Parts: sequence; structure tokens; C-alpha cells
Amino acid sequence: MKATRRSFLILSASVASSLALSRVASADEAKLSEDDPAAQKLGYRLDASKVDKSKFPAWAAGQTCSNCSLYQGGASDPYGGCALFGVKQVAARGWCTSWTNA
Ligand code: SF4
Repeated sequence: MKATRRSFLILSASVASSLALSRVASADEAKLSEDDPAAQKLGYRLDASKVDKSKFPAWAAGQTCSNCSLYQGGASDPYGGCALFGVKQVAARGWCTSWTNA
């Protein structure tokens, strides 16, 4: 009986730590990377202030994901959904060539 209880406790601790690790991994995987092929096509930058103006002349100061019509995050969220990138979250202070305020 003791061995069963000990085994149960060890298994429970193992499952709990695995779940915690998978949550961290899921949170990171859910964020759109600048290296993502879809992001690269649209010149996505995590930080709009780092947009290369010579490469993307459409960018204007003040344009960020957080004030784009396609952004689905809340006003104070650091990351949120975007209508263009499915389940991937974009940075509120990010930007891409599809920015619009229409
Ligand atoms: S479409 Fe808008 S919200 Fe989506 S990544 Fe581009 S600028 Fe950000």
C-alpha cells in the first residue's frame, strides 16, 4: 500500500511539472515570430520603431498593431490576435505592411 501511495505522489508531481512546462512552451509558440514565413512576407516587426523605413516606406510613426483595425487584443495586452495570422499572437507594439485603420 505504501509503494502505491508513493508511486501516486511521484506520478502526480511528474504530471504537474510536465503540464507547467507545456504551458510555457505553448505561450511562446503562440507568439508570432519575425522569422515565421508568413510574418516575413508582410515585413512583420515585433517593435514598430525598428521598421526599416527605406524598405517599408508605408510605415509612419505611431502605427502599431495595437492601433491597427485587424488587431484583436485588448488595449493593455502586450500581445493579441490578428485577423491575418490565425492563432499566432502579434505584439501590441509590432507592425506589418498590412497595417490599416480603416
Ligand atoms: S495586420 Fe495589423 S495587427 Fe496584424 S500584424 Fe499587421 S499591423 Fe499588426
